[in-house]
Amino acid sequence: MKKVLVTGGAGYIGSHACKALRAAGFEPVTYDNLATGWQDAVKFGPFEQGDLLDRARLDEVFATHQPVAVMHFAALSQVGESMKEPGLYWRNNVQGSLTLFEAAVAAGCLNVVFSSTCATYGDQDNVVLDEDSAQYPINAYGASKRAIEDILRDFEAAHGLRHVIFRYFNVAGADPEGEVGEFHQPETHLIPLMLDAIDGKRDALTIFGTDYATPDGTCIRDYVHVCDLVDAHVLGVNWIMDGKPSRVFNLGTGSGFSVREVIDHSRAVTNRAVPYKEGPRRPGDCTKLVSGSTRAEAELGWRPTRSTLETMITDAWRWHQTGHYDK
Ligand code: UDP
Repeated sequence: MKKVLVTGGAGYIGSHACKALRAAGFEPVTYDNLATGWQDAVKFGPFEQGDLLDRARLDEVFATHQPVAVMHFAALSQVGESMKEPGLYWRNNVQGSLTLFEAAVAAGCLNVVFSSTCATYGDQDNVVLDEDSAQYPINAYGASKRAIEDILRDFEAAHGLRHVIFRYFNVAGADPEGEVGEFHQPETHLIPLMLDAIDGKRDALTIFGTDYATPDGTCIRDYVHVCDLVDAHVLGVNWIMDGKPSRVFNLGTGSGFSVREVIDHSRAVTNRAVPYKEGPRRPGDCTKLVSGSTRAEAELGWRPTRSTLETMITDAWRWHQTGHYDK
């Protein structure tokens, strides 16, 4: 079976990717330092504990498994934290990715699928965000991901490291079969925090800012189901292994929902009140991030099937009630 090295395979998106890879006939090898991931989430292939900054460990893992491709998820990914501790983001995300790519080149593994983000576009009023849009990140998280995209382009030119870059919009939902799901500690993302507030596991949700230039004053995001997202990654591995050119794809649905609209949908799905209060803006947040591209559908043949807000919240709510991991 062909192996794919999945950095961050013990995390939220990485664990779903491992399940999808296994279903597509690959063996996913998880490489994760367990800083934010969970060993319990590694269910679909071997686990190798290690840090992206540990070149010797990476060399050992490439030599042991000889993967045909790397799917690179491992990263710090919180906008708010990145504004307070930018050094963490530059070291872990940028220097860590650089170390990984150098190890991949040295091992002769020249196919990379990289998880980037719509946060690389930044706050661009009235601009349709497609893959050719300019990138002006307004937080250190987005800046770190943009820098890694640049490294990939330079490494392709110099070393033949070919890549598919996915710029995600907001990932939500969980495996409908309940094997893996979203479990961050501490949690910072809107939908899981809202579900916690609904069943009293934490205090009321705080809406971060109600004075944005949007119809209801709250930020707008484009939510995509994690299962649809990882399906695109499997298409991406096949794309790059078929020898097609390096390419960037947005992964979003093109529909935007405000924080208040997500609250309304959560109330409808769970049939429970959503305790919330209004608070100040969170530094680093963009007003509106909605994909304006259908390139992934047109070129990769990507067909999202679970990315309605209702299905994402239903799947997240099921996981919220039944699933968790232990260290
Ligand atoms: N948000 C919020 N309260 C929270 C967490 C998030 O109002 O406790 C808002 C946040 O300002 C953003 C949206 O929900 O507009 C999505 O935030 P999240 O952290 O889930 O993802 P991000 O867009 O930062 O990647």
